[in-house]
Amino acid sequence: MNNQNTFKMRLLPSRPADATVFSKDNFIQEKRMAPFVVGEGVLDYNCGSCGHSMLRSLRFSQVTQAVYKCPKCGEYNQIEPYVKRH
Ligand SMILES: [Zn+2]
Repeated sequence: MNNQNTFKMRLLPSRPADATVFSKDNFIQEKRMAPFVVGEGVLDYNCGSCGHSMLRSLRFSQVTQAVYKCPKCGEYNQIEPYVKRH
């Protein structure tokens, strides 16, 4: 059974000075648009601005406070802590 959950990431107003930022600025064009991470979990994260697929199939335990720069629109995105709904 497929229970994929898709989230929009939270946009940051500018590049944070105190966080690890992952970007694909130095990647060749063909590799730039692939997600940063592809796992085997049920959590998908898309850019909060343009909806580009940033992190795919994460497990709960892989969610971190890291910041990801969208390779498509250039916005800085952060995962919000996953809150389990009851
Ligand atoms: Zn984007």
